[in-house]
Amino acid sequence: MSSEAIKKMSLGPEPNLVDYDNAYREFTWGWARDQLDGLPGGGLNIAHEAVDRHALGNRAKHVAMRFLNKNGEPTEHTFEDLRDKTNKFANLLRALGVVKGERVFALAGRIPELYIAALGTLKNQCVFCPLFSAFGPDPIKMRANIGGAKVLLTTTQLYERKVAQIRNSLPLLKHVLLIGENGEKTNVPGTLDLYELMETAGLEFSIGTTDEEDVALLHFTSGTTGIPKGAVHVHQAVIAHHVTGKLALDLHPEDVFWCTADPGWVTGTSYGIIAPLTNGVTSIIDEAEFDAERWYRTLQDEKVSVWYTAPTAIRMLMKAGDEIIKKYDLSNLRFMASVGEPLNPEAVVWSEKVFGIPFHDNWWQTETGGIMIANFASMKVKPGSMGKPLPGITATIVRNDEDRIIEEIKEPNVQGELALRADFPSLFRGYLNEPERYNNCFRSGFYLTGDLAKRDADGYYWFVGRKDDVIKTSGHLIGPFEVESILLEHKAVAEAGVIGKPDPIAMEVVKAFVSLKGGFEPSEELRRELLGHARKRLGAVVAPKEIEFLPSLPRTRSGKIMRRLLKARELGLPEGDVSTLEAC
Ligand code: AMP
Repeated sequence: MSSEAIKKMSLGPEPNLVDYDNAYREFTWGWARDQLDGLPGGGLNIAHEAVDRHALGNRAKHVAMRFLNKNGEPTEHTFEDLRDKTNKFANLLRALGVVKGERVFALAGRIPELYIAALGTLKNQCVFCPLFSAFGPDPIKMRANIGGAKVLLTTTQLYERKVAQIRNSLPLLKHVLLIGENGEKTNVPGTLDLYELMETAGLEFSIGTTDEEDVALLHFTSGTTGIPKGAVHVHQAVIAHHVTGKLALDLHPEDVFWCTADPGWVTGTSYGIIAPLTNGVTSIIDEAEFDAERWYRTLQDEKVSVWYTAPTAIRMLMKAGDEIIKKYDLSNLRFMASVGEPLNPEAVVWSEKVFGIPFHDNWWQTETGGIMIANFASMKVKPGSMGKPLPGITATIVRNDEDRIIEEIKEPNVQGELALRADFPSLFRGYLNEPERYNNCFRSGFYLTGDLAKRDADGYYWFVGRKDDVIKTSGHLIGPFEVESILLEHKAVAEAGVIGKPDPIAMEVVKAFVSLKGGFEPSEELRRELLGHARKRLGAVVAPKEIEFLPSLPRTRSGKIMRRLLKARELGLPEGDVSTLEAC
């Protein structure tokens, strides 16, 4: 692709994507593939693109990852360091007899060993599967067995607390590699000491020929029903990781990038590990959990220029107030993006007020492997919109009421299911061992996302809700997000979750659960005020008929409000799989 629409990264702070329409028209995945190196002997391997090609070039001494431990103490790894350490990890696997295609699971916090293991695993052409370290024993057992884990990397502490008790129920698990506290040697029966193996492992490793379609990553995601789904991704996905990092996150070589996501979830792998490395930037990785002061301090001290976070965190920052921001120098921050759940317009407006730049919402999911729809640096942000499809991505809105027939909706502002033409490199290649569940996601060459959305006359996409969360009342389809957004704009509301409550006449009525900000108490007066506020803003059909106060709302560990659980509790039904429920 020759266009000026996508500038060479070396041109500096001008956005990489300067002209959306031209870039969209001219983009080809062949051009994107050419931005990468390829293995010297042919083929494509994520770890080569992320690490080795930079270690062999002029970015060898550039800091690739800067880790902050819980005390805030940093450890830096240059691209050269990363190459050496990931070579060792790959050699270690080889020495254990772990071969191409076998699955290496990791259960750890955001510590260097996890990142080294991920890339070393890919070098040895094994499949990397991260698990969220806050999972309890049952979700770990379930996922490790579905995924056929052969190796598990974890810390001594996590092993003793969560894995030892299920070890006998993991028949396929051959090797447990333990990371000792503070680099100390471990001595736990039935396990191996990671550092001991790393010490003796060889420093040289040559990545074997890797086909673009060889499986690289396994990410678990949850459906409305059934067991967790293992979404399978291949090495070719790196083309999308790289180019979306460049176009949607606007990564430039001198950027300091902070993705706050945990690698236990897909964002923490695609954009917490792969995309910043392939783009050659410095990544900040903070081991600690959310703390408003610490986050602002990190942005300041690490001179973060591009920041990728999530709406829940943004709302928590909003809750912490505007005054605290004034204590910090955030002048290096030039681009901020958000993903994972709806970003309410109020949060975008707030960010513009306090940072001088807006959060750029973008949309994607575990199955798509990379960002699909985004607000770009050079584009006008419409608060509340997810933005426009990435170059190379054909998005559309479809009617999907009939069993296997879909119909594209061409008119603007009509709600339907968000669908993507199934022709981009990072699209998942299967749900592990569940071909039927996988095939059900595709119709007429489109991948059906399960999300409801609208597209406006300018081509911006607007999230409505998950297909299965949408409320039907008096014949009207109502998106819970629309209602929640409005409630969140009320000064008293900290969190809002909206469900459809069965009703003999209207089929469902809109019911809202809200938790209040500090300084506000539930009262009949406040309840009426909120009902009035919502009714005024949304109209009688869309506004909630009922509001119930709760001290806090149930969320998944990745921050999404669990409407399903609110509904089950409301109806007195079994709560189902709550393994991803955040501990209250
Ligand atoms: P996950 O696979 O866990 O990343 O979840 C993907 C789902 O999160 C999507 O299908 C959406 O329902 C939701 N999601 C992700 N990004 C956004 C966004 N920007 N706005 C609204 N919902 C989002």
